[in-house]
Amino acid sequence: MIKLFNSLTNRIEIFKPLKNNEVRMYSCGPTVYNYAHIGNMRAFLFADLLQRTLRVVGGYDVKWVMNITDIDDKTIRGSSIGSTEWLPEMGEQTNDPITNLSLFTRYFEKCFFEDITDLGIDLNHLYATPRATEFIPQMQDLILKILDKGIAYIADGSIYFNVAKWREIDKYGKLYKIDFENFRSGERIDADQYDKEQACDFVLWKAKKENEPYWDFVIDGVNYPGRPGWHIECSTMEYVLLGLPFDIHTGGIDLKFPHHEDEIAQSKAGYGVEPTIFWCHNEFLEVEGEKMSKSLGNFFTLRDLKEKCIDPLDIRYLMFSAHFGSKFNFTFDGLNAAKKARQRVQEFIYELFSDKCGQIEIDASELERDVFNELSEDLHTPKALARLFTFLNKYESESMSEKSKKELIKFFEKFNQIFAVWELGPRPEFCIIIPDEIIDLAEQRLKARLEKNYSEADRLRQIILNYGWNIKDTKDSYVLERYKS
Ligand code: AMP
Ligand code: ZN
Repeated sequence: MIKLFNSLTNRIEIFKPLKNNEVRMYSCGPTVYNYAHIGNMRAFLFADLLQRTLRVVGGYDVKWVMNITDIDDKTIRGSSIGSTEWLPEMGEQTNDPITNLSLFTRYFEKCFFEDITDLGIDLNHLYATPRATEFIPQMQDLILKILDKGIAYIADGSIYFNVAKWREIDKYGKLYKIDFENFRSGERIDADQYDKEQACDFVLWKAKKENEPYWDFVIDGVNYPGRPGWHIECSTMEYVLLGLPFDIHTGGIDLKFPHHEDEIAQSKAGYGVEPTIFWCHNEFLEVEGEKMSKSLGNFFTLRDLKEKCIDPLDIRYLMFSAHFGSKFNFTFDGLNAAKKARQRVQEFIYELFSDKCGQIEIDASELERDVFNELSEDLHTPKALARLFTFLNKYESESMSEKSKKELIKFFEKFNQIFAVWELGPRPEFCIIIPDEIIDLAEQRLKARLEKNYSEADRLRQIILNYGWNIKDTKDSYVLERYKS
């Protein structure tokens, strides 16, 4: 029995899929206008933890959809002619804004998939990763439905959701738990993101602006060239790919308002059904008490951290060491502690695969029950880890029987289907495959050495060492050795 905190009811509830054994789950995905930072990654790792727990503990089939927001204010700005955010890797800019948008967003989309793969998300678990730009006709259908019901209107070439009208029909503010008493009736907002104080009629379709990508939208013989608002994108893609209502919708806590609140209103107004049963939100990853965000400039991308020789799986483990419903402060000390903790479990696993056996009998089923019970209670990963470490404290230095070791291996096989941060097998003696990035560093070091730039050579040696590789100098070259674990 899996229990989840549902932001709609503000309660922990027993989860049951609507359709037999199948869980339909939608996660608000990245806006592909830059490299995602690890605060964003907390949202995707939360969704991954949830979908893996549903599969492994719940035994469900999970249909997991994560969208790609490739059209919004930020992707348009980044892809515009002369943008400083355009990178050579994206190719040459053209005169066509839609082609530029596609070149720009595809690059960051590719980087995003590389990053989440490094973080242990298995892309095969994703049923679909729809791009907003590929669902424009379906978005227009939804907007037409809302217009037909008189809950939207056209003004200055854009189309707005009439919140005051909607408030006569249903509650606005269900998720955010706000009555909007001072609602600014009749005012309109074009921005995708806004504060609750700015709440008014939000945009479904934005009129075309000079040199920006646009799509035609003919209504009663009149064309309204433009592009969709952010909220209508998710309402449409989840309807098309999962059907309504589906089981679970995830996203960061900042998406509750306006994104998810507006999603609820639009879907119910247009399709007649609310999107989902469970709304699951993760809290923020913070830095010194503030949300990690691009706008505050207090962020790290995964790429930044990889350059500091940090293993992405240590970041995955670090995120799992805190409950996703709580704010979590990112520090390098914390990351180091996570690395050590992960390694400690890894050493224990290597020992399970060694030939050394003793007499101590262990009941692995008790450990399994305790750990999975904690995970079933609203994905309480820190408590699950605490159970594991209590076990390790007791048995780490014991010599276990062959049968006990086999049972423990079975437990770790199951646990690692969720955590996905450990190698299950004997301790490797040597690693003979040298990763490309190590070879690059070694080559840079060789060059520095040959140019007698010894301080740079020492610096690079240290980086290579941090990665777990020894570099030995030969006359005009080098030998790389992995040190034994
Ligand atoms: P975006 O790419 O900006 O649309 O954001 C992608 C996801 O990251 C959304 O679910 C956000 O709510 C989430 N997010 C953004 N910043 C943070 C943060 N500091 N901590 C946790 N989640 C975040
Ligand atoms: Zn969304």
